Amino acid sequence: MIEGRIYNFSAGPSILPEEVLLKAQKELLNCEGSGMSVLEMSHRSKVFDDIIKAAEANLRKVMEIPDNYKVLFLQGGASGVFASLPMNLGNKNKKADYIVSGNFSETAFKEAKKYLDAREAASTKDENFVRIPSQEELQLSPDADYVHICWNNTIFGTKFQYIPDTGDIPLVADMSSSILSEPVDVSKFGMIYAGVQKNMAPAGLAIVIVREDLIGNAMSITPKIWDYKLMADKDSMINTPPCFPIYFVKLVTEYILAQGGLAEMKRRNEEKAAILYDYLDSQDFYKAAAVKEDRSIMNVTFRTGDEELDKEFVKGQAAYGFSNLKGHRLVGGMRASIYNAMPKEGVAALVEYMKEFAKSHS
Ligand SMILES: *Cc1c(COP(=O)(O)O)cnc(C)c1O
Repeated sequence: MIEGRIYNFSAGPSILPEEVLLKAQKELLNCEGSGMSVLEMSHRSKVFDDIIKAAEANLRKVMEIPDNYKVLFLQGGASGVFASLPMNLGNKNKKADYIVSGNFSETAFKEAKKYLDAREAASTKDENFVRIPSQEELQLSPDADYVHICWNNTIFGTKFQYIPDTGDIPLVADMSSSILSEPVDVSKFGMIYAGVQKNMAPAGLAIVIVREDLIGNAMSITPKIWDYKLMADKDSMINTPPCFPIYFVKLVTEYILAQGGLAEMKRRNEEKAAILYDYLDSQDFYKAAAVKEDRSIMNVTFRTGDEELDKEFVKGQAAYGFSNLKGHRLVGGMRASIYNAMPKEGVAALVEYMKEFAKSHS
């Protein structure tokens, strides 16, 4: 790690690869020989046109996105997509099924209700979202326009370990906190989307990957900037796009390709997560918050069982060069977000702190 930087376990906006930050720094005053930074140039310039095209091409390559899918760069974050999704994909029967497995999927569900008949197909809210609903629990409607899931539950630290079978009904997944962490078979989804500020780029951009036969039928109330067909036809540039995060998508995807792609990201992420989970499973001072079968490899949630001790643990982090280990208020305890850019050494150092803390507080 570069001198002065710390292990940042933030859930989002979150840690970015140092190589990428250095590249952005180097190009900041003079991007691609243009004599200006990407922050200052016209989004219609040749230099920026090359950047947005490279961002899309790299993303297609790294995620192996089939040709019949459009890649859109939208403003409004993942929460914006909570609204634009029903407007764009919910205009046949005006019905959609939502699998509620955490706070964000519940928020998406509530937002969709404003625009169509959104139904809860399953929920683990009664169990405070410690697990993912199983295929057998899903009550899917035959006439839904789509089924929505949140692939990785950032707050609760759970992840889908199976792709729900929805028959002919398109499956839509919020992958904000897991995109680019491992390979996914895009063809199994009607649409995948993500706010980029967890594992990809700085905040200000949402990426939508959508099968092209599903678009072109948006509700008439849909804002132009969120009309997927219009944005697809105009290469996401009907107005000024969020140039800086798009530039980072280019840099981060370049970095991932150079590192060996998503298979290598998965290998590293599983290795890092195992360091934490193996320790959690080997002792009884800390308890993992999520059930073992549905654990996330991006967001690891745990607690001591004593709120005062949890507070003390969080307070002690600074002395070890850590930050953002406090759990979300809906779960309490601690959360370590260990996205792609978190080095293995950071996770190992965290476990050392956990051991020392447990020893001095048992
Ligand atoms: C952070 C997050 C969101 C919200 O993203 P915004 O871009 O802030 O709207 C939605 N879904 C998931 C899974 C998230 O992790």
